[in-house]
Amino acid sequence: MAKKYEGPAIGIDLGTTYSCVAIWQGQNNRAEIIPNEQGNRTTPSLVAFTDTQRLIGDAAKNQAATNPSNTVFDAKRLIGRKYSDSVVKDDVQLWPFQVISGTDDKPTIVVKYKGKEKRLVPEEISSMVLSKMKEIAGAFLVSPVKNAVITVPAYFNDSQRKATKDAGAIAGLDVMRIINEPTAAGLAYGLQKKSSFAGKRNVFIFDLGGGTFDVSILTIKDDNFKVMATAGDTHLGGEDFDSRMVDHFVKEFKRKHKKDISGNPRALRRLRSACEKAKRTLSFATDTTIEVDALFESTDLCSTITRTRFEELNIDLFKMCMETVERCLEDSKMDKSEIDDVVLVGGSSRIPKVQQLLQDFFNGKELCKGINPDEAVAYGAAVQAALLTEEGIKNVPNLVLMDVAPLSLGWALIRDEMSVVIPRNTTIPVKKTQRYATVKDNQSGVLIEVYEGERARASDNNLLGSFILSGLPLVPRGYPFNVCFAIDENGILTVSAEEKTSGSKNQTTITNKTNRLSAKEIKRLIQEAEIYEVDDMKFKNKVKAMNALDDYLYNMNKRMKDKCVSSKLPPMVQVDINSAIVKGQNLLDGGQKPETFVFVDLLRELKSIFEPAMAKIDNGWTHEDRDEDHGSTTGPAQSIATSTRRKLKEKLSWFNKSS
Ligand code: AMP
Repeated sequence: MAKKYEGPAIGIDLGTTYSCVAIWQGQNNRAEIIPNEQGNRTTPSLVAFTDTQRLIGDAAKNQAATNPSNTVFDAKRLIGRKYSDSVVKDDVQLWPFQVISGTDDKPTIVVKYKGKEKRLVPEEISSMVLSKMKEIAGAFLVSPVKNAVITVPAYFNDSQRKATKDAGAIAGLDVMRIINEPTAAGLAYGLQKKSSFAGKRNVFIFDLGGGTFDVSILTIKDDNFKVMATAGDTHLGGEDFDSRMVDHFVKEFKRKHKKDISGNPRALRRLRSACEKAKRTLSFATDTTIEVDALFESTDLCSTITRTRFEELNIDLFKMCMETVERCLEDSKMDKSEIDDVVLVGGSSRIPKVQQLLQDFFNGKELCKGINPDEAVAYGAAVQAALLTEEGIKNVPNLVLMDVAPLSLGWALIRDEMSVVIPRNTTIPVKKTQRYATVKDNQSGVLIEVYEGERARASDNNLLGSFILSGLPLVPRGYPFNVCFAIDENGILTVSAEEKTSGSKNQTTITNKTNRLSAKEIKRLIQEAEIYEVDDMKFKNKVKAMNALDDYLYNMNKRMKDKCVSSKLPPMVQVDINSAIVKGQNLLDGGQKPETFVFVDLLRELKSIFEPAMAKIDNGWTHEDRDEDHGSTTGPAQSIATSTRRKLKEKLSWFNKSS
């Protein structure tokens, strides 16, 4: 029996461009998408670093054009990959931030944070986005959240899944389960529409997002959700369509203005944002204008693009999507006529040409647009999260979700032959043991190199890791040993090998060490993430203190300009108060970077002086005021003036010292 988790559990769709978080609400019998502090239901998967702070989400996106080299996006395209991977090399060319090859060929992002160079692995960037989603959920639930289900593209390989799990751990999350995005969307669709289903239903999920593309076929019968096949491309999505449009306008700009913007990150970033907006418009309009003021060397970009042109620029990519659709159907051994529903998921599934090609493929079948394509994955993740908690989901207590392994898994035999132990689209969790035999006389060990992929030659596939089964008896070839492959419910693989002779057992487990962070590294990154959080909190507190001081100075200024107030204050006090206001203003506007306490203390001190003075002006003067001046004959205003000035002078001398 699987462990049941205590406390609230959220579902996070960690997207390439946008992320979304949801939680199951038992009382409403539905999952709730949690809006962020800006009220947006999705949050950009961006992290930015500045001289003063780290920004995540909308705040990072809003400043991306002015700080392109320190605004990191697309970490999902890097996660679990090596720097030398051709996909990474191509992407790096297009990004305005720097990526270098780090330890073990791991892509490492280089940014400037608080004036210092900072190197980050993709897991750290993803963990920052996850921590933001955790914070959004915590604010909504008014309590901290720890348990989460995180989704990944169905076609993510073993290292990408493990790296995503590590990112969750760095964000301080207890990752209950990693599930596939189209499966999560299928769960959302099935639960929302189940009441109208009669008998068995075959559902085709078409999930085209910002950076990845997945398709899955699910069979839903009562409370059983079984994935029959999945296929996809972990590097195909809206950003590729944006890139095609960016290329188009870079060329056009060169032609029209004889200016090449391709080496200017700021111009490229601004152009990319404009292209993304234009692309969205072209989903409902047949043409649109694109305008970017002073794009490069004071020259504006002002142009138009038609939907037809956009489609021409991307038609090969759209057709690639259809090939994947076909492959998935073949794998499921189903005919297209057996598909009951074709469900659109992911922001890019809104593109009319994509919809048209898909509809044509399914012989004109009406596509299901009934679920929100941006939110379905998070919705399904929240369902899965709730199912894993002690509370569960009341009306579907026995819901069963069976997923599949997206890629074949095996190991390299002699002459580089791939021996598949778990074929792709096998239902998971699964454990398979196969018997092999030594190929040489007196062979004392076997090198087990584990691969994933569909190619016959092992080295054409993706190497996950290797280990040696040693200690075999020195006997003629043909000596038997077992190799066992196990995939857990997260899609994560463990491989072991053993030989049993005279009771001795030799077993080694592979957990894909090659591309994965070590436990020690994860611990270090968790500590670093905590430091970032403390830094963020410090920054927020400082801004709060500065704002409070700013508000106070503003109100004081206003009161000082009020004739009724100023006429009651002796001129010398007015001068002192006004000079305190100016000094406070200089402190706020100036280049120095005082600590938070300087602002807090100054505000407190100013209040302790101004407020009694103002109260006395508002309420009139008392005998005590007069007495305070030890027999002064100049009247109450002068009495308060003397005491206020004395205090003010003391305080301002302190303030001058500290600033
Ligand atoms: P997702 O990963 O599902 O959040 O999808 C994000 C991608 O969908 C981004 O590349 C968006 O530009 C794209 N997208 C969102 N809305 C539209 C739209 N109306 N037309 C075309 N693409 C869109």
